[in-house]
Amino acid sequence: ESKATGRNRLTVFEAEMLAGKRQRRLIERELRAAVYLNELELYYQPVANADGSIFALEALVRWRHPVRGIISPAEFIPVAEHSTLIDLVGEWVFKRACADITQFPGKRISINVSGEQLKRDEVVLMAQRVLLESGRMASQFVLEITETVATAATPEVLARIQCLKELGFRIALDDFGTGHCGFNYLKTLPINSIKIDRSYINRLANDEVAQVFVSALAQIGRIQDLTIVAEGIETAEEFKLARAAGCTRFQGYFIGRPMPRKELSGVLDLQNGSTRLTA
Ligand code: C2E
Ligand code: MG
Ligand code: MG
Ligand code: MG
Repeated sequence: ESKATGRNRLTVFEAEMLAGKRQRRLIERELRAAVYLNELELYYQPVANADGSIFALEALVRWRHPVRGIISPAEFIPVAEHSTLIDLVGEWVFKRACADITQFPGKRISINVSGEQLKRDEVVLMAQRVLLESGRMASQFVLEITETVATAATPEVLARIQCLKELGFRIALDDFGTGHCGFNYLKTLPINSIKIDRSYINRLANDEVAQVFVSALAQIGRIQDLTIVAEGIETAEEFKLARAAGCTRFQGYFIGRPMPRKELSGVLDLQNGSTRLTA
C-alpha cells in the first residue's frame, strides 16, 4: 500500500520534469505539505578565510522526501518559484537559520533569496517580522541574489534589495559570471560581496581568460570595497590559484561540503580548538 503510493509519488515527480502544468500543481501541493510535515532540512556549507578558518556558513535547503530520499534544491526551488510557494519555503529557511545561528557563534549565515520572492513587498515584511520574532540582528545575515536576477531587476526589485540592505542585511551577488552584468552596472548595485561562479574557478588551472577575469574582479573588489568570494573550490590547487588571483573568501567541497547543523558544530568546535580545516 505505502509502496504503491510511493511509486505513484515518484512517477508524478518525474512527470513534472516534463513541465506539465497539472503535474506541477501536484508537486506544488506535495511541497507545500512537506513544509508543514517538517520534511525540509537546512544544510550549511562553510565559507572560509584565506587561512582556512571559517568565516560564514551558507544555508542550503534540502527536501527529505519520504520515498525519494534527499531532493536537491535545484530540482524543487524552480517548482516553488512558479507560485507564491517560494515565499513559504523562503520564510521557512529564514526562520530555521535564525534559530540555528546560535550554534555558530561569531559566524554569519548566508541565505539564498529567490528573484521571485523579490517581486513582492512581502519579502521585506517577512524578513523584518522573522528578525523581530527571533531577536536576531540583520547584520548577522547575508542575502544572496543571483547575478541574473540583479541584471533583470525592475526598479521595484532594486528598491526592495536596497531596502533589505538598509535594514542591515549584507547583500551578495551570487553565481557571478553566468549573467552579463557590466562593470558599470555593478557599481550601482547595493551589494557587499560578489561570489564568482564555480565555472570560472574550475577553469583557473588551464584557462588564462578565467585567470584574468578572476584577477580583474578581485581588483575591482579592492577598489569598490567588495568582498570577492570564490565558489566551487574542489582542489588544493584551485584554492591556491583563487588566493593568488586575489579572492578573499573561499567556498567549495575542498573547504567543506554542505552538511547538517549537528555535523558542522563538530567541525566548528575543532576549529575553535585552533585546528584548521585546511592549511
Ligand atoms: P548556490 O546558491 O550557488 O549554492 C551553491 C551550490 O553549489 C550548492 O548546491 C552547493 O552544494 C554547490 N557546491 C558547493 N561547493 C561545490 C563544489 O566544490 N563543487 C560543486 N560541483 N558544487 C558545489 P545546492 O545545495 O544543490 O544548491 C543549488 C542551488 O539551489 C543554490 O545555488 C541556490 O541557487 C539554490 N538554493 C539552495 N538553497 C536555497 C534556498 O534556501 N532558497 C533559494 N531560493 N534557493 C536555494
Ligand atoms: Mg548561494
Ligand atoms: Mg552560487
Ligand atoms: Mg547556483
